[in-house]
Amino acid sequence: MQDIQTGPIELAARRALVDVAHLFYERGWAYGTSGNYSVVLSRDPLRLLITSSGRDKRALTPDDLLVVDETGRPIEPTPGAAPSAETLLHTLLATVRPEVGAVLHTHSVWNTILSRGLAGRGELSIAGYEMLKGLSGITTHEATARIAVVDNTQDIAALAGQLRPRLAASDPALQHAFLMSGHGLYTWGRDLSEARRHVEILEFLFEVVGRRQPI
Ligand SMILES: [Zn+2]
Repeated sequence: MQDIQTGPIELAARRALVDVAHLFYERGWAYGTSGNYSVVLSRDPLRLLITSSGRDKRALTPDDLLVVDETGRPIEPTPGAAPSAETLLHTLLATVRPEVGAVLHTHSVWNTILSRGLAGRGELSIAGYEMLKGLSGITTHEATARIAVVDNTQDIAALAGQLRPRLAASDPALQHAFLMSGHGLYTWGRDLSEARRHVEILEFLFEVVGRRQPI
């Protein structure tokens, strides 16, 4: 059964992703063409609306987004537009985690500093902060958020292959997000507003952790 959402719903999703891009640029989380964002438009078949590669996030428009299938290929060829290699991480999350409705990837100063400093350590644990309660499923500041740290790579297909079994097994270090060392943050949510909240919460926590301790 097909349940592709088109028309006003897709248009609303395009506008919502553009708003996210402009917000993240203003917050310093999306300088230049860095980062990519997606929302799930439909699940059967899977259709993702995702930012086209190489677009300036400050100037992003609704036309700078593409609809791709579960393999990351555009549904319709769009001259001058192409999905980035990292689209595979978005389709991975959307296929392995059916509850995921949006995926956001940011390059910020603090996620770059922290992830670089944690290279090779496997994960970052954050505990004791009230803001942790902004992450879905966390109800007390006494909880610990575990965030996987993976090596940066240009071989995104290989990275997706490494992450797939961990995501499928509900690895606790991949409940909310992961960091690519020296590169940036991937986080997700049931919908775009939850994913955006996770970026806001995590970027806040990364800066707090980064300012408090030598990495
Ligand atoms: Zn990136």
